Amino acid sequence: MHPATGTVRLLAVALATALLAPLSPAAGTTTAARTAPHARSAPVGRVLAISIDGLNPTALRRIGRQRTPTLHRLLRTGAATTNARTQVESTSTLPNHTSMVTGRRVAATKGGHGVTWNTDRRGSTVQQACGDPEVGSVFSVVQAAGGRSAVFAAKSKFSLFARSWPDAVDRQVIRHGHDRRVTRRLRRDLAHRSRAFTFWHLGLVDRAGHTHGWLSRPYRRAVRRTDTMIGSVLTVVRKEGIDDLRIVLTADHGGRPGSRHHEAIRKRHNYRVPFLVWGPGVDAVRLYPANPDSRRDPGTRRPRFRGRQPVRNGELANVALDLLGLGPVPHSRWDRRHNLSWTS
Ligand SMILES: [Zn+2]
Ligand SMILES: [Zn+2]
Repeated sequence: MHPATGTVRLLAVALATALLAPLSPAAGTTTAARTAPHARSAPVGRVLAISIDGLNPTALRRIGRQRTPTLHRLLRTGAATTNARTQVESTSTLPNHTSMVTGRRVAATKGGHGVTWNTDRRGSTVQQACGDPEVGSVFSVVQAAGGRSAVFAAKSKFSLFARSWPDAVDRQVIRHGHDRRVTRRLRRDLAHRSRAFTFWHLGLVDRAGHTHGWLSRPYRRAVRRTDTMIGSVLTVVRKEGIDDLRIVLTADHGGRPGSRHHEAIRKRHNYRVPFLVWGPGVDAVRLYPANPDSRRDPGTRRPRFRGRQPVRNGELANVALDLLGLGPVPHSRWDRRHNLSWTS
C-alpha cells in the first residue's frame, strides 16, 4: 500500500484512543486540533521485528507445516514471500542486520551504512562506518516519536546498535549463543513493558548451519526449535491479551550445504530470504501479487539496486515504522519510495 494508506487503520486507532483519553489541561485546544497534526508523531501499537539468522526458506518447505507450525502459520496468515532478497553487496550477518535497522544498503559510497565487517568490533558505531554523525535508524525514529525500543540478540556483535543509538535503544539483552535465554527475557519484557519497537535476533539456525551444514538434519532441528521459541512468544502475546502487536520477520541470509554463506554471495541459497508482515491490519496476501507495480518477483535472479526491486530484508525498518504510523528513516533507501502493501 501507499504509506498514507498503510497507516489509515492505525490512524483510526490513534484517533479513537485520543478521543477516549481525557483532555490534559495543558492541551488547551479541541481534540481534533490536538490529534490531527500530531497523529503521526506518536507510535501506534507495537512491532516485534524478528530476524532468524541464516534461515534458508527451503528448510521450511522440507520440514513441513506440521513440524514448523508457527512459521507456516505466520507465512500463511500474513503478507509474505519466501523469495525476498538480502543486500546486493553482502550475505553476511552484521551488514544485513544494519540494513534492516537503518533501511540503507551496505556501500557507504552509495548512500549505504558502511558496516562491511562481521565481527564484534569494540567501540565501532554505524555513524563512524557511514561517515555521517546523523545517520538514523528505526530506533532513532521511534525515540523521536516518544516510543521505546529494545534489542534482544543471540550474538555479541549486535551491541553495535545500542552503541550507535544509545539514547534510542532503551534496553539491550544479548546472550551470545543462548537463544532460549534471550527468548525467556523477551517473553518477560513483552508481558511487562509496552514498547513500540522490539528487535529480536535468533542465532541458533546459523550456528547449526556453520557446524553441521545448511539443510542438514541438525540444521532442520534448529529451525524446528526456533519455530517453538517463536511460538512461545506468540503464546505470551495471546495470554497477555496484547492485541496491538504486529510482526515483521525476515533473515539476514540463507546458506547452502557445504558452503560458507559469506563468500558466495551469488548463490541463490545464500541471497534468498523470507519476508513477512503479520498481525492486526495485515491481510493474508502474497507480497509480489499484492505489489504488482512496485515490486517484482526476482525468480531465481539476484537483481542489483536498479529497476523494479524485489522485496528486501532492508525494508524491515520502514515497514515497522509504517506499521507504527511513523514516517520512514530519513535518507534511507526505502524512504519516499517505500510503498509496500500488506492488504488485499
Ligand atoms: Zn547471519
Ligand atoms: Zn553465519
